[in-house]
Amino acid sequence: MSASLPEKQKVILFRKNGGPEVLEYADFPIPAISDSEVLIKNKYAGINYIEVYFRKGIYPSKMPYVLGREATGTIVKIGKNVTGLEIGDKVAYLSGKTFAEYTKFPSSGNLIKLGSNADDEKLKLYAAALLQGLVAVTFVNEAYSVQPGDYILVTAAAGGVGLLLDQVISKEKKGHVIAIASSKEKLQKAKAAGAEYLLNSSELSQDEILKRILEITGGNGVAASFDSVGKDTAELSLSALSRKGTFVSFGNASGTVPPLSINRLSAKNLKVLRPQLYGYISEPQEFKYYTEKLFSLIDNHELEIDISKIYPLSEYRQAVIEQEGRRTTGKLLLKIS
Ligand code: NDP
Repeated sequence: MSASLPEKQKVILFRKNGGPEVLEYADFPIPAISDSEVLIKNKYAGINYIEVYFRKGIYPSKMPYVLGREATGTIVKIGKNVTGLEIGDKVAYLSGKTFAEYTKFPSSGNLIKLGSNADDEKLKLYAAALLQGLVAVTFVNEAYSVQPGDYILVTAAAGGVGLLLDQVISKEKKGHVIAIASSKEKLQKAKAAGAEYLLNSSELSQDEILKRILEITGGNGVAASFDSVGKDTAELSLSALSRKGTFVSFGNASGTVPPLSINRLSAKNLKVLRPQLYGYISEPQEFKYYTEKLFSLIDNHELEIDISKIYPLSEYRQAVIEQEGRRTTGKLLLKIS
């Protein structure tokens, strides 16, 4: 079955690696679907920092490359073998190519039905919460299982993922968050999200930050560092860990972490992980378990999603210039239709 659709759509893509100037708001064919796929008309798509890595070529990509990782929208076309989904269903889902008016999606993928009464606010909220919310709830359980009373270091603590980690660690897990961010305003946001100790990376040197962390933790260091900044903070994260501490390196905002000598770990019996979200939700029961956990935190107002700005799809380039310029906090969204 299908609704009547145009042949072309607007998408955000790049045809070569580079800075924001390689991004195009372009016409692109609406994808054909197979018997086991659905076509989704997108309403909102979440912006995630990972797009920068693909655009710059830090992660390889096949070009032309349509960006996007998550969205909410409505199913407008359905393959004949698809069960459990119907045209008109409102959905939130994780997929590539969501910076587009339409995205094809395998019906067996990571998708949640939102119910027929899902209004615009709900579509906004779930487009904003899904990917980064799942990072927060999976990482604090799987990458390092945060225990009550743990001191935990969070870098980029006022970013999209950062504000969610602050909340989950402090409120759900009852840990003490030591937040690093690059301005007073950002640190105030981290504080509102539950961070107890605020370290301004624009005012303090890394040696001073380390000294403060050791003072805060009575000389022991932190049980874990959730570090998404990468190259600039990897050494600080390792030095700040306590005996048996865990370095969760999960992003490259400042560049990729240089190779690490394994012997570096033995002095304090450290653990190092470089996790990615999909490694924790690839089984359907894992995705179900963690999305239910995330939605229950949101519905019970134990996790606030801070949507700091919504841009039209055509203005993704401006959004990412601000994000790479470290001028953004919380979650950025694209409004598509
Ligand atoms: P953010 O909103 O956190 O934006 C990035 C932030 O990184 C900036 O605001 C800035 O905060 C900080 N930063 C530090 N150094 C630099 C630099 N040199 N250039 C730019 N930014 C810098 O983005 P997201 O919430 O979308 O993502 C956060 C991180 O988590 C990213 O690194 C992302 O790749 C990673 N991630 C990893 C996942 C995984 O599965 N492994 C999944 C999702 C996200 P400040 O100015 O305060 O330092």
